[in-house]
Amino acid sequence: MINRGYYGEFGGAFIPEILFSTIEELVEAFQDARNDPTFWKEYTDIMSTFSCRPTPLTFAENLTKHFGGARIYIKREDLNHTGAHKVNNVMGQGLLVKRMGKSRVIAETGAGQHGVATATMAAKFGFRCTIYMGEVDVARQRPNVFWMERLGAEVIPVRDGTRILKDAINEAFRDWVTNMDDTHYVLGTACGPHPFPEMVSYFQSIIGKEAREQIFEREGKLPARVYACVGGGSNALGIFSGFFDDPVQLIGVEAGGKGLDTSRHAARLALNDSSIGVAHGYRTYFLQDEDGQMKETHSVAAGLDYVGVSPILASLRQKGRVRFEAITDKEVLEAFSLTVKMEGLVPALESAHAFAQAFKELPDISGDDMILINLSGRGDKDIFIVADAFADPKWQGFIQKKAEDYSA
Ligand SMILES: *Cc1c(COP(=O)(O)O)cnc(C)c1O
Repeated sequence: MINRGYYGEFGGAFIPEILFSTIEELVEAFQDARNDPTFWKEYTDIMSTFSCRPTPLTFAENLTKHFGGARIYIKREDLNHTGAHKVNNVMGQGLLVKRMGKSRVIAETGAGQHGVATATMAAKFGFRCTIYMGEVDVARQRPNVFWMERLGAEVIPVRDGTRILKDAINEAFRDWVTNMDDTHYVLGTACGPHPFPEMVSYFQSIIGKEAREQIFEREGKLPARVYACVGGGSNALGIFSGFFDDPVQLIGVEAGGKGLDTSRHAARLALNDSSIGVAHGYRTYFLQDEDGQMKETHSVAAGLDYVGVSPILASLRQKGRVRFEAITDKEVLEAFSLTVKMEGLVPALESAHAFAQAFKELPDISGDDMILINLSGRGDKDIFIVADAFADPKWQGFIQKKAEDYSA
């Protein structure tokens, strides 16, 4: 099995031998489900009754007028239960856990969004749930920790290393090795060892399937370009996969952070700062130094702040099928404000990266065309960061106090 799961030179399954049988069991359960004609129906049924699928496609009439060119369509993943596309992945994996007859799930989380989604899935399906989170992130993300615990999950602060996401990933693997008989590791994005990149993309492909149908039904043709932000790559692969065989440009947008001329960013594919390596169970482009030590990344959007990237996206870049760009924190906040004021939509700061890149390119796109932007999640969670960024004196004291209350 170890030779499977390669996308060109990327991917693979670099795992301790003790996990081979568990990974094999997962590969089989996934193949079995995919070949079962009733499985996709079971999946879409639960997504339409428990989350909000199919999510609508919104025509951004005011932004279209504002830019005066191509018509802008927005795929509304922000309307999902728990506020983002992450639920598509965790519910799919939850169904596989049931098929494998396991009773416990574990997950790693940085900003806490994937932890909340996993804890929600576990509550719905009646699984025991443990979430690993770096101690630094536990302090930064009080509200998400609160909800995970209310949902019945045990949140374990990880005190190793730099006490952030990558340390939580290591700890989750350690747990899995010890408890694999009854435990499934719910990986949060299209990264990690095979079969996770393929499996997570499979569940997220529901976004692209719906979007292609919806835009074609409305416009009678396909968009010229599709934009999505790229953290690990799951929402991007989800929407892009609907258009792989079409003459449609696909643009993945990474975090340019404080600027591409600084080291404070998370642009792994848009820049030449990264190099190929093996970590976290797979081979891809990582932001690392010459000795293979992972660099620190930065983004105003916590969900894009990761050193690796999906091996499937790395391969699609090499083939020239997907173009990658990076947007700075400052550009993100401008695109965020414009979208909120003109459309009444509050995008997550992650998603606002895709909006910012689309806005930049609109002058080059024919007015007869349309573009499609994936709104991966809603921005309510970003209240403190946005308030801080705009530093409105009227709210500053209040927000600051709330932030302190949360982290107390
Ligand atoms: C987690 C998250 C992302 C980044 O994850 P991908 O796997 O790259 O999609 C993007 N947007 C939102 C709203 C998120 O919560």
